[in-house]
Amino acid sequence: MTAFIEREINRLSDNYQFRTPLSRKQFEIARKSLPGGNTRNNLYFAPYPPYFERGEGSKLTDIDGNNYIDFLSDFTVAICGHSNPTLIEEAQKTLSQGMSYGGCTAAESRLAEAIKDRFNSIEQLRFANSGTEANLYALLTALAYSKKNKVIVFEGNYHGGMLNFCHPNIPINAPFDTIILPYNDPAAFETALLEHGDQVGAVMIELMMNSGGCIPADQEFVDTVRKQTLAHDIPLIVDEVMTARLNYHGLQEKYQITPDLTSLGKIIGGGFTIGAFGGKEKYMRLYDTQKSGFTAHGGSFNNNVLSMNVGAASLSNVLTKDVMVMLNEQGDNLREQLNKIFYDAEVPLVFTGGGSVMNLHLAKATPISKNTNPLSAEICKLYHRFLLNEGIWIAPRGLIALSIETTDKGIHILIEKTNDFISQYRADLKGLA
Ligand code: PMP
Repeated sequence: MTAFIEREINRLSDNYQFRTPLSRKQFEIARKSLPGGNTRNNLYFAPYPPYFERGEGSKLTDIDGNNYIDFLSDFTVAICGHSNPTLIEEAQKTLSQGMSYGGCTAAESRLAEAIKDRFNSIEQLRFANSGTEANLYALLTALAYSKKNKVIVFEGNYHGGMLNFCHPNIPINAPFDTIILPYNDPAAFETALLEHGDQVGAVMIELMMNSGGCIPADQEFVDTVRKQTLAHDIPLIVDEVMTARLNYHGLQEKYQITPDLTSLGKIIGGGFTIGAFGGKEKYMRLYDTQKSGFTAHGGSFNNNVLSMNVGAASLSNVLTKDVMVMLNEQGDNLREQLNKIFYDAEVPLVFTGGGSVMNLHLAKATPISKNTNPLSAEICKLYHRFLLNEGIWIAPRGLIALSIETTDKGIHILIEKTNDFISQYRADLKGLA
């Protein structure tokens, strides 16, 4: 690590530790039962993360009483903030009627209809418990239909804890026969299909990489992927687990493509556990119990009453078209302002992304595939530790995600603190990348 980054991270960490003695104690307790003291890796950072006990609007409070302006929105999930009155009321009403019926409820069709209203490509869908699970089902559904083994995915795409193509050689990835191709490289895709097209049973893609650093797909690349998958009769799965928050009808509408299958999660559960996969009836009929030869699809929590009711309330009553347009415009604006700070200061930093999500990069030119410069990750850490000490919560990997509770005042503070960050480190940053 570059000396100045190491020195500054240590200095900022000292300050952080001084303010968070109770979080440190809680971390020591957590380490006794959870490997690394943690059950969701991206929440951990050294020496220990803060432990939260309260969220209100766009404010988070840790157990030491420190307040943070939330600019992470639970890694994009908490699009409605932390105390949306419509969602809280719906959750309380749901709980007042009991849980775990072990039977069907009307809420599951309400949520399914709300999803179909948004995603024109989805004729039928099934629920699951996470985006990861939805993607596993989408892949297996496609392979069952096409009766082929190989799966094409893209470098830097993340489809879940066991479908992680952000890093090479993840030992816990599900054992699919995968071909991992470069992102935003139409020629590589065409070549791979020429070579293996007759064995490929599914292609899965993020239209904007989330965990891979908020890198949007090029239109030409997406057009090629859709055209070639149609030509080779390969089901195309678009993972909209994160991107569903970027456009009312999903990014698939913006790119003007109709996938065969779509996977969803995060925002469709109103803050509760959820996943969903769906698409054309010819794929989803596999699960139609009224058709002969159907396949069983179970899941104790697939129709969990909280996820179904609060998810439906969220999509139908909170995340209207106008609200989503405003949120994503606010994000575009913020990214522009942050990038102007970097441009004016002539430092090699850039936020990539689209609408309400963005990720910091150390790069001379805007990256179009996963940024593999290890210094970029270190700079993101430094920016994270800097903002943490200023009471602003973003991801250690440099991810920012807005919610409908994000205020103009909050944005003003983030811009001001980013200006301070650049003033402090401008000379050091100029020498990098
Ligand atoms: N796909 C994408 C694009 C995601 O961003 C994520 C979560 N970060 C997932 C799938 C996995 O969803 P979950 O965490 O709900 O399993």
